[in-house]
Amino acid sequence: MSFSEIFKNKELVLSFEFFPPKSSKLLANTKSLIDELSGYNPDFMTCTYGAGGGTKESTLDIVQFISRDLGIRAVAHLTCVGHTTNDLKTIICDLESAGIENILALRGDPPKGETVFEMTEGGLSCAKDLVEFISKDFDLSLAVAGYPETHPEAISPEADIDYLKAKVDAGAELIVTQLFFDSDMYFSFKDRCAAAGIDVPILPGIMPIASIKQVRKFTGMCGASIPPKLSESLAKLETAGDEVSEFGTDYAIELVRELIAGGAPGIHLYTLNKSSQVSQIAEAAGFSKEVGSMDNVIKKKRAS
Ligand SMILES: Cc1cc2nc3c(=O)[nH]c(=O)nc-3n(C[C@H](O)[C@H](O)[C@H](O)COP(=O)(O)OP(=O)(O)OC[C@H]3O[C@@H](n4cnc5c(N)ncnc54)[C@H](O)[C@@H]3O)c2cc1C
Repeated sequence: MSFSEIFKNKELVLSFEFFPPKSSKLLANTKSLIDELSGYNPDFMTCTYGAGGGTKESTLDIVQFISRDLGIRAVAHLTCVGHTTNDLKTIICDLESAGIENILALRGDPPKGETVFEMTEGGLSCAKDLVEFISKDFDLSLAVAGYPETHPEAISPEADIDYLKAKVDAGAELIVTQLFFDSDMYFSFKDRCAAAGIDVPILPGIMPIASIKQVRKFTGMCGASIPPKLSESLAKLETAGDEVSEFGTDYAIELVRELIAGGAPGIHLYTLNKSSQVSQIAEAAGFSKEVGSMDNVIKKKRAS
């Protein structure tokens, strides 16, 4: 099923993102976590792709597990890093053979130790080119990344939105956002996209804060900001030496509630391969492990 069809048929879409674990020994744990979260009957689950193809096999293994073993739509992330177009063709053919119909097409970040993205000789330089490349020869449904706070390498916020429009015009049917911590950022991004003529769903990516060190590291890496009020709260927790994950869950729940109330088409939860926080967030958003109950709960929430 294409992304367009998924969003046409559902009032509120739920998706979970996982990453391939560092060692194959941990793969069984990751699969068991994915199995546990599949109980929420998400519309799709995605698996990231490591820089330079380092996770090629495990990404394929995980999306195959999601799709074949759990019967849930699986979305494979794919990046241009370290690949020639021939490599990409082989990887996409392997995904197609595994029954994968949806790809999140990305340029990718530079591999560890490198700071600048370098195009591989015979490869592709950006996500738009990857979308064009896949659309030309494959019948797959594509999503791309979007940045409410602008991608750190963009020349300007306007250029970033124009370029996002180009990714959509090249064939992307869905935008999944980078993490952010203020619903206004999402809504103003959505407005700017609409003004630029972008008319595909924009799915907000939500990362629950699990630790102060981690949130500082992630925001530092991806250019997202920590709003002053949140920063203050985190500093207080740090000084008191208090547990952060409970606060992080509550913060994400409030964010998700604001997003849903404001008309976001669903939520994409960055699970960080942990279940407790995302389970609580999914439940607070009205999703439950009882199949079929979701839409009704959401309708009630929107009506209230
Ligand atoms: C939902 C999500 C999932 C992700 N999953 C992964 C993953 O699995 N693996 C991974 O390695 N990384 C992942 N990332 C991170 C991503 O790879 C990085 O953010 C990367 O730096 C950019 O990738 P992109 O696809 O957004 O790049 P692009 O869309 O190609 O954009 C990169 C930059 O180039 C600029 N740009 C490029 N071409 C033009 C142009 N013609 N005109 C103007 N500006 C241009 C853009 O504005 C932007 O600043 C993910 C990010 C998100 C939001």
